[in-house]
Amino acid sequence: PLILGIESTCDETGVALVRGRELLGDVVATSMDEYARFGGIIPEIASRAHLEAFVPTLDAALAAADVDLSEVDAVAVCAGPGLIGSLTVGVTAAKSLAAALGRPVYGVNHVIAHLAVDELVDGPLPERFIGLIVSGGHSNLLRVADIATDVVELGGTLDDAAGEAFDKVGRLLDLPYPGGPHVDRLSQSGDRGAIRFPRGLEAAKDRQRHRYDFSFSGLKTAVARYVESLEEAGREVPRADVCAAFSEAVNDSLTAKAVQACLDHDCPALVVGGGFSANSRLRALASERCEAAGIELRMPPLRYCTDNGAQIAALGAAAVRAGVEPSPMGFAPDSGMGLEVVVAH
Ligand code: ATP
Ligand code: FE
Ligand code: MG
Repeated sequence: PLILGIESTCDETGVALVRGRELLGDVVATSMDEYARFGGIIPEIASRAHLEAFVPTLDAALAAADVDLSEVDAVAVCAGPGLIGSLTVGVTAAKSLAAALGRPVYGVNHVIAHLAVDELVDGPLPERFIGLIVSGGHSNLLRVADIATDVVELGGTLDDAAGEAFDKVGRLLDLPYPGGPHVDRLSQSGDRGAIRFPRGLEAAKDRQRHRYDFSFSGLKTAVARYVESLEEAGREVPRADVCAAFSEAVNDSLTAKAVQACLDHDCPALVVGGGFSANSRLRALASERCEAAGIELRMPPLRYCTDNGAQIAALGAAAVRAGVEPSPMGFAPDSGMGLEVVVAH
């Protein structure tokens, strides 16, 4: 079956077409350029941008896939989590198309879709695996036996997401928004052993209870204190070393816990998704540690890690394949959609 996927959780308008596990066309428009001057996304601007971008993006995706809209067998759309205004535009567009075409609509979980997209790149997902999703809004560990029907949340961040922590440290160091990529770039010329920043949830009492959880806000505060103390003393801040040491602390936690989850749950593979997987140290440390533990690492190329329509179409295709019931036409987008829901009902 031919699945049309629509992504609109945040600032990206993504539309893609997938047949089986084959990606036929995939187009993404973004309104991110509008937010640099505000230092953050403005939801009202994002909603309007989705409305303006939707039809041109759909047309471009259909043209890229060389298919006609009438050939679509099912429509998949992100139902959440995300900005409610942005979600509403995508869900309304998806329902309208589904109604006009007389086809079912699947309102799928955006976060879980970040893992599903790996099928389009690396072939069928492993039979059992641990999923690590890292982005500006999420940092989660999941245990997956079937991406459409059997996903269990093992843990997640108690405060900031990995990308969010990088963005905050970027702001602290006066780097442009979003700070993540800038902190990453600077970190590559720094000494990651120069400063020892704390790892969250390392204390003995936390270690068992929060075995698969993350915490990055204490780390961010430690970086802020370190920078302030140097500034007060009138000394220069070694920005590259700060970035390298901070990045090491975040990625040490992420990769150690992901590998631990694989070993604990007898999962031979780790699948990583989300925009933060662009991070150079995450990529290096994850391959190093997975290789040492004999775990297969699957990390799709960057364009499939950031928000896109292909991930939504991939999860929609998996739901169709698994025989999951479509969403009722009356389903609503859910800005706080939990990881226990793969398809909205
Ligand atoms: P979500 O998908 O959870 O709704 P999002 O849309 O903000 O959140 P993405 O677009 O997937 O997330 O990822 C963007 C985040 O990743 C930003 O916080 C950005 O700073 C961060 N990021 C991107 N590249 C890098 C990098 N090389 N190093 C560190 N952080 C990065
Ligand atoms: Fe995302
Ligand atoms: Mg995004």
